[in-house]
Amino acid sequence: MTAEPTLCAIVPPYVLDRLAEDGHEPAARSLALDAAHRAARLTAALPDRAAAADRLERVISDAAHRERLPGRTVRQEGEGAVPDQSVNHAYDGLGATWTLFSAVYGRHSIDDQGLRLDATVHYGQDYDNAFWDGRRMVFGDGDGEVFGDFTACIDVIGHELAHGVTQFTAGLEYRDQPGALNESVSDVFGSLVKQYALLQDAAEADWLIGAGLLAPGVQGVALRSMKEPGTAYDDPRLGKDPQPAHMRDYVRTGQDNGGVHINSGIPNHAFYLLATALGGRSWERAGQIWYDALTGRRLPADADFTAFARATVAAAKARYPEPEVADTVTASWAKVGISPT
Ligand SMILES: [Zn+2]
Repeated sequence: MTAEPTLCAIVPPYVLDRLAEDGHEPAARSLALDAAHRAARLTAALPDRAAAADRLERVISDAAHRERLPGRTVRQEGEGAVPDQSVNHAYDGLGATWTLFSAVYGRHSIDDQGLRLDATVHYGQDYDNAFWDGRRMVFGDGDGEVFGDFTACIDVIGHELAHGVTQFTAGLEYRDQPGALNESVSDVFGSLVKQYALLQDAAEADWLIGAGLLAPGVQGVALRSMKEPGTAYDDPRLGKDPQPAHMRDYVRTGQDNGGVHINSGIPNHAFYLLATALGGRSWERAGQIWYDALTGRRLPADADFTAFARATVAAAKARYPEPEVADTVTASWAKVGISPT
């Protein structure tokens, strides 16, 4: 079963909206492009499967600042680095994501059948976003004033490809609580891709999404913080990070598909609390529990936070016989105001 692909962009619409209202041209253009992408019917064929399902296969293309996909092929699997660092960053980030899912969870690419990983860099002029369109990853260069090159953050690449994993597994609907879970799962695996690549344990990790993406001079450290949702940025142009960390602060809004990039702070923080409480490498027990809940085929596409929390407790019990693990999962959800029992 494959859910309908949704266009999932890393920078939420409310951030670009605010910049655009402020007269920031690249943000206005990026918003218009994102709206066009959403409206376009995503009818392109899926990329090929790799020759062997357990083999990594990447194709990086260059849009050369135009708005046509895929662009010219510039680096394929096994080819050496090229002078263009955006190409190499995209190539490496796709590889790091594939490696986490393969080495840790035994998953063969995002569809578990060896789907080739395609990406396009240098999309559009000063395009302030990166997205997964259900078939490929697309990266803008950023405007250089508020956002830098979107290939620079390995967790952003992991985030976008994790949308593909969700699309091929739980198929969480992209609105309200299931949408916020969809976003949160992408933040969780995006952060795990980075932690795995850097061999960091839970205490060492920065738990930020998009660290280094904001241009110098912007008052902020990243797009989101799983450790302290709501603290990633507070800038005159960007506004303040609106993420809650607890159900009592849940934001009811018609914007952003019902706040999918806002309320994701709540399950994000639950994962952070679990990973740090268990300690050690987050991709091991905490990540495995989230992976099992997402891919276990029992989670409905319209799951709310409580349903997902229950799925993680069930996954913990199934995977780890010692009751402390499932108890720690329950306690982590309770700390963000969600009772799985
Ligand atoms: Zn996303």
